[in-house]
Amino acid sequence: MTDPISLPPSDRTRVRRIAENARYDTVTLHAIIDAAYLCHIAFADEKGTHCIPMACWREGNHLYIHGSNGGRLIKLFTQGTQVCITITHLDGLVLARSAFNHSMNYRSAVIYGVFEQVKEEEKKRASMAAFMDKIALGRQQQARPGNDKEFAATTVLRISLDEAACKTRSGGPVDDAEDMALPVWVGVLPFSIQQAAPIPHESCTQVAPGYVQQWEK
Ligand SMILES: Cc1cc2nc3c(=O)[nH]c(=O)nc-3n(C[C@H](O)[C@H](O)[C@H](O)COP(=O)(O)OP(=O)(O)OC[C@H]3O[C@@H](n4cnc5c(N)ncnc54)[C@H](O)[C@@H]3O)c2cc1C
Repeated sequence: MTDPISLPPSDRTRVRRIAENARYDTVTLHAIIDAAYLCHIAFADEKGTHCIPMACWREGNHLYIHGSNGGRLIKLFTQGTQVCITITHLDGLVLARSAFNHSMNYRSAVIYGVFEQVKEEEKKRASMAAFMDKIALGRQQQARPGNDKEFAATTVLRISLDEAACKTRSGGPVDDAEDMALPVWVGVLPFSIQQAAPIPHESCTQVAPGYVQQWEK
C-alpha cells in the first residue's frame, strides 16, 4: 500500500476549471496509471507538436516506457525533451435534463517532465520484467526471456511522477433547479473495459495457464 502523499500543484498542474474534481495525491495517481496499459505522450519538435500513444507501466514514483533505440521518440526523449503525458479512463456518459449539463465520468492524469534513460543493465532487465508482470503475472517465467541482442536494441525510459495532476468525476448529473420537472430520462450510461474470452492461436499446443484462464473472469 502506497502512502497517500499529496503533490503540491505546480503552475502547470493546478486545475482551474471544476477544481473540486482535482486530485494531487499519489494513491489516486498510482491507481490511474496502474489501471492503464497505455498513455499518450505529447511533445514538440522542429516539425510541430505531436501526441503519440505508448505502452506504459509504473514502478514506485516513476512511469516507464520502452522503445526501439533507433526510433524518433526514443532519440528525442533521451535528449531532455519536455513531455506531457495523459492517461484517461472513461467510466460513463452522464445524461442530464439539459444539453448543457451533460457530462462524462472519468479518471484522468496529466504528468509533466523529462524522461531519463534506465541505463544500468540489471535495472533495465528488472523494469522489462515488471512490464511483463503487468501484462500477465507469471508470463515471464514461461516466455523466452529477452536475449542480449534484444535488450541492446531496446531503450527503457522513466519519468518522475513529481509533477502531476489527476481529475476524476463520478456520480450522476447535476441539473439546474428549474429543469428538475422536465420529463426526460436522467442518469449514467456506464462504461468498463471488458475482458473477453482468450483466443488461442492456431499454432498453440499448450493448456491455458492460470492467468489466461482467469482473463475473462
Ligand atoms: C473524458 C473527458 C472528457 C472531457 N471533455 C471535456 C470537454 O468536452 N470540454 C471541456 O472543456 N473539458 C472536458 N474535459 C475536462 C478537461 O480535461 C479539462 O479538465 C477542462 O477542459 C479544464 O480545462 P482548463 O482549460 O480550465 O484547464 P485547467 O483546468 O486550467 O488545467 C490546468 C492544469 O490542470 C491539469 N488538468 C486539467 N485537466 C485535467 C484532467 N482532465 N486530468 C488531469 N489533470 C488535468 C493539467 O495539468 C492542466 O495543465 C474532459 C475530461 C475528460 C477526462
